Amino acid sequence: QYSNNTVLHVADVHKRFAGLHALADIDLEVEEGKTHAIIGPNGAGKSTLLNVIVGRLAPSSGAVVFDGQVLTGKKPHEINQMGVARVFQTPEIFPDLSVLQNVMTPAFAKRDGAFRIRMLNPLANEAALREEAEEALADVGMIERRHLHAASLSRGDKRRLELAMCLIQKPRLLLLDEPTAGMSRHDTNTTIELLKKIKSRGMTKVIIEHDMHVVFSLADKISVLAGGRIIAEGAPDAVRGDPRVQEAYLGG
Ligand code: ADP
Ligand code: MG
Repeated sequence: QYSNNTVLHVADVHKRFAGLHALADIDLEVEEGKTHAIIGPNGAGKSTLLNVIVGRLAPSSGAVVFDGQVLTGKKPHEINQMGVARVFQTPEIFPDLSVLQNVMTPAFAKRDGAFRIRMLNPLANEAALREEAEEALADVGMIERRHLHAASLSRGDKRRLELAMCLIQKPRLLLLDEPTAGMSRHDTNTTIELLKKIKSRGMTKVIIEHDMHVVFSLADKISVLAGGRIIAEGAPDAVRGDPRVQEAYLGG
C-alpha cells in the first residue's frame, strides 16, 4: 500500500476538541532520510498534529505508525526512547544548568543502563558523554557558550541548545515545531544552514513551519495544512505554485 521507505505513517487521524474538528482525515507518509515539511497558516492544526505524533495528545481516531510499530497509546517518553526526538515551539531546557550540563542531562536520563555503567566506571563514562555533548554543541555552533548559564541565553540560542539536546540522542526521526520562530533574519539563516547540514547526514526530519520560505530550500516534500485538513502535497515547486495554497495563506 505504501512505499518501502516509509518510516512514519499518520493514518486517517482525526482530532476533535469540544466543538472543534482540529484535525480531519490526516494521512501522511514520511520517507526515510527525507525532510518533510508541514506548512499552514496559524491555527491550521500543525502543533496539534505534532502533539499527536509524539504522544502528547491522543487522536480521536486513527493511528500513528513509526518503523512498523504503532505509537498511538504509548507515552511521550516511550516514543522518545523508540528514536523520535522533538524540538518544541517554546524551548524546554533546564534554566538553572549550564549549556553543557543541559546537553548531558537528557542523555543520562534516557540511556538504557547508563546508571549501572557509571557505577562501574564513572569517570570513563562521564568523559565519553561530555565528548558527545561537546560534539552536539559544536554542531549547533554553541561550543564557546558551553559554560554559560542556560537562562542567560538569547531565544535563538535556547532553541539551538534544544536542538543539541536532540542531536545527542541520535534520533531516527527529528520533529521540529517552527524552528526559526522568533529568530532574527541572521539566526534564521544560520538555523537553515544547520538543518541542511543535519539533512546531509540522512536523519529523517519533519519540520512544522508557518513561513514557507524557511522550508522551501530544505524540504523534499511539503504537505499544506489548512483548517485541519491537508489541502495540497508535493515537491516544493509544485506546492508553491498551487492556487489553493496561495488562497489558504491569503485567506488565513
Ligand atoms: P497551529 O500550530 O497550526 O497554529 P494548533 O494546532 O495550535 O495550530 O491549533 C489548531 C486549532 O486547535 C486552533 O483553532 C486552536 O485554537 C485549537 N486548539 C489547539 N489546542 C487545543 C486544546 N488543547 N483545546 C482546544 N482547542 C485547541
Ligand atoms: Mg503551532
